[in-house]
Amino acid sequence: MFYDVIIIGAGPGGIYSAYELSKLAPGLRIGVFESGNRLEKRRCPIDGERIKSCVNCRTCSIMSGFGGAGAFSDGKYNITNDFGGTLHEYIGKKKALELMHYVDEINLSFGGEGTKLYSTAGSKFKKLCMQNDLHLLDASVRHLGTDINYKVLENLYEHLKNRVDFHFNSPVESVGITKTGFEIVSLGETHTCEKCVISVGRSGSKWMESVCRAIGIGTRSNRVDIGVRVELPCEVFSHLTDELYEGKIVYRTQKYGDLVRTFCMNPKGAVVNENTNGIVTVNGHSYEDPARHTQNTNFALLVSKHFSEPFKDSNGYGESIARLSNMLGGGVMVQRFGDLIRGQRSTEKRIAESFTVPTLAATPGDLSLVLPKRILDGIIEMIYALDKIAPGTANDDTLLYGVEVKFYNMEAEVSERLETRYPGLYIIGDGSGITHSLSHASASGVFVAREIAN
Ligand SMILES: Cc1cc2nc3c(=O)[nH]c(=O)nc-3n(C[C@H](O)[C@H](O)[C@H](O)COP(=O)(O)OP(=O)(O)OC[C@H]3O[C@@H](n4cnc5c(N)ncnc54)[C@H](O)[C@@H]3O)c2cc1C
Repeated sequence: MFYDVIIIGAGPGGIYSAYELSKLAPGLRIGVFESGNRLEKRRCPIDGERIKSCVNCRTCSIMSGFGGAGAFSDGKYNITNDFGGTLHEYIGKKKALELMHYVDEINLSFGGEGTKLYSTAGSKFKKLCMQNDLHLLDASVRHLGTDINYKVLENLYEHLKNRVDFHFNSPVESVGITKTGFEIVSLGETHTCEKCVISVGRSGSKWMESVCRAIGIGTRSNRVDIGVRVELPCEVFSHLTDELYEGKIVYRTQKYGDLVRTFCMNPKGAVVNENTNGIVTVNGHSYEDPARHTQNTNFALLVSKHFSEPFKDSNGYGESIARLSNMLGGGVMVQRFGDLIRGQRSTEKRIAESFTVPTLAATPGDLSLVLPKRILDGIIEMIYALDKIAPGTANDDTLLYGVEVKFYNMEAEVSERLETRYPGLYIIGDGSGITHSLSHASASGVFVAREIAN
């Protein structure tokens, strides 16, 4: 099969590439190859009762399929250059923000109208944070919520399905260079194209590395973020979440000078499992629909680890720590903050007695047996710092789930047009190592589509 453009991966990067391309150049034959399922077939078997932990499906429904890793996410589109990726370093700050706003407009017109755009501009929390040695990063955030995010994806698929050829359950095995473009192999069949956009996200990180190795695209070692997911009664952070929805707060530890930050705050949300290449870590989300709200708010506390020579495998380091928690807990572990401070493991009984009721059935355990001391010390320091702006954070019953790992792909060598050294071959989204968020990944998709259409 010959296509003008092949897009590999149907996450936000791939979807917004397909959307913009089909809009600007409707005559083009566009093929999208996705290793996971179509949206309605994506189902994680964990129901919390019959199946409590990951059973390692052939493709993980949380991470793969139409919508990519973002499909069951909280749908928080952060419009900012301050975090979520370094797209602005390639395409410029103004352009990056412009594209993020454009993606926001598309989301609104495909079912997201009526959702709220929160902003840190003029927030009193900036001052409160500074007075307590904490730093609130600037951002506007559109919170679609898991339910509306799903609706937007459904509508986008309806819009695209007659304009683009979707190949689901079709992992791309290889990418080759031909005289006139590229050829990809999927399910044993070869498809050729003039231009190719690779947008395989975090779940495609190992595959991306192998492709870069095979066709000689340079890569740079990246970082890994390790930490825990904190869960506490929603009232503790409600003064902040009611106004900002989420606050990205950074703290420099006194002990080591490391930066610890809050990440992915989910007011009245739920803690969930995440499976990356067979390793179960923790994440969180929340619904826009008040009927699906919980009593708790959750957010991650993460410490970034950058490695210098000779160590190159930062993701491998994160995986080893996550594997340790999987080994001890059979999946994700949970511990009360009070138990951690007293140096005792949490037990079923202690968790059952906790005033904070967990939203994820995780194994009670001892996170100090899993997390490196330096990381754990930083997290504990940050919890006490947050307690000053949100009293109750350092409560004995605050739950810590571990481990949360943010894997980053190796950064692939691309130009300021996100093009590799092969003209017409682009790498975008989280798979490029350049973006780490819904808005940046989507914006990179629109950017490349416009490059190709031009
Ligand atoms: C539970 C959860 C909650 C999150 N919440 C938020 C949030 O609220 N806000 C936010 O900004 N970010 C959030 N994120 C991160 C966000 O989802 C990602 O940054 C975003 O999805 C990246 O988009 P992408 O298109 O680059 O990659 P992905 O969304 O990962 O999509 C890549 C796609 O490529 C496919 N693929 C991989 N390899 C191949 C191959 N060889 N052949 C064919 N297809 C392949 C995968 O199956 C996948 O569907 C969350 C992530 C998770 C897991």
